[in-house]
Amino acid sequence: MLSKSIEMEKLCLDCGETLRGRSDKKFCDDQCRSNYNNRMKAGQQCCIRPVNNILRKNHSVLSKICTGEKVRIKKEVLLLNGFNPDYHTHLHQTQSGNTYFFCYDYGVLKLNAEVYLVVKRWA
Ligand SMILES: [Zn+2]
Repeated sequence: MLSKSIEMEKLCLDCGETLRGRSDKKFCDDQCRSNYNNRMKAGQQCCIRPVNNILRKNHSVLSKICTGEKVRIKKEVLLLNGFNPDYHTHLHQTQSGNTYFFCYDYGVLKLNAEVYLVVKRWA
């Protein structure tokens, strides 16, 4: 019955102490619970913030470049301005099969290896 007794032993997700009592307990007490939750929040911020910064930068580059409805632009120029083509918020596929990479309200379509089309989202 050794394996069963190991299964029964649950450890606090925060401090790793053995938990006693109700089997659905995950923490020793509220202090451990709040430590754990704070750490999780901080951990998520570590992933979310850098990506948000890249998206914000991309959006700012696109909004400076695309002052009208649409503009053709060399990929080189986008990159020189700090645009990061690896990050986008969503995709939009047109009926003709083109895929626009959106960064919020700006879409980017690759026309060829060197030229991109930037559009402000149509209504
Ligand atoms: Zn604990």
